[in-house]
Amino acid sequence: MPSPTIAKHIKEIPKISTKNDFSVLNEPWTVWNWYKKFDWVHVLGLIFMPIYGFYMAYTSVALQQKTAIFSVLYYFFTGLGITAGYHRLWSHRAYSAGPTLQFILMLASTGAMQGSIRWWCRNHRAHHRYTDTEKDPYGAQKGLMWSHFIWMLLRQDPTTVGWADVSELEG
Ligand SMILES: [Zn+2]
Repeated sequence: MPSPTIAKHIKEIPKISTKNDFSVLNEPWTVWNWYKKFDWVHVLGLIFMPIYGFYMAYTSVALQQKTAIFSVLYYFFTGLGITAGYHRLWSHRAYSAGPTLQFILMLASTGAMQGSIRWWCRNHRAHHRYTDTEKDPYGAQKGLMWSHFIWMLLRQDPTTVGWADVSELEG
């Protein structure tokens, strides 16, 4: 049991850290707070990296046949990782897989840059459970762009997403 002084500081840690402060997400967008609403790791991976890739492909690097073949194979490999792994296997438990297949699907799906297995499945189970409500992390009632893209660019307050049990995915 920590002393009362230490306990006071432990209680204050979440208030000091802006990482767990989601109050800005409920405020109107302004010139001074807009950047606090974005998940900048996701923005880097989903906006800046593709732009940089297209820029470099257009200006600096001649396309080679082996790169084109690798890109197509990588696209289908990572896509299969999402559909067969993140979606069917880990979110819906539609089938069972041994450790070797799980390892291959883990490599494939994480290559698609759609977050961790736990994060993806938690959101997807909430999506199915609370489809098109305020508790759906990517509900279609907020529009096509929101449900397919924008929701990933903005920080997510975990308390606003509907509860979904992913405890079996936690080591
Ligand atoms: Zn599903």
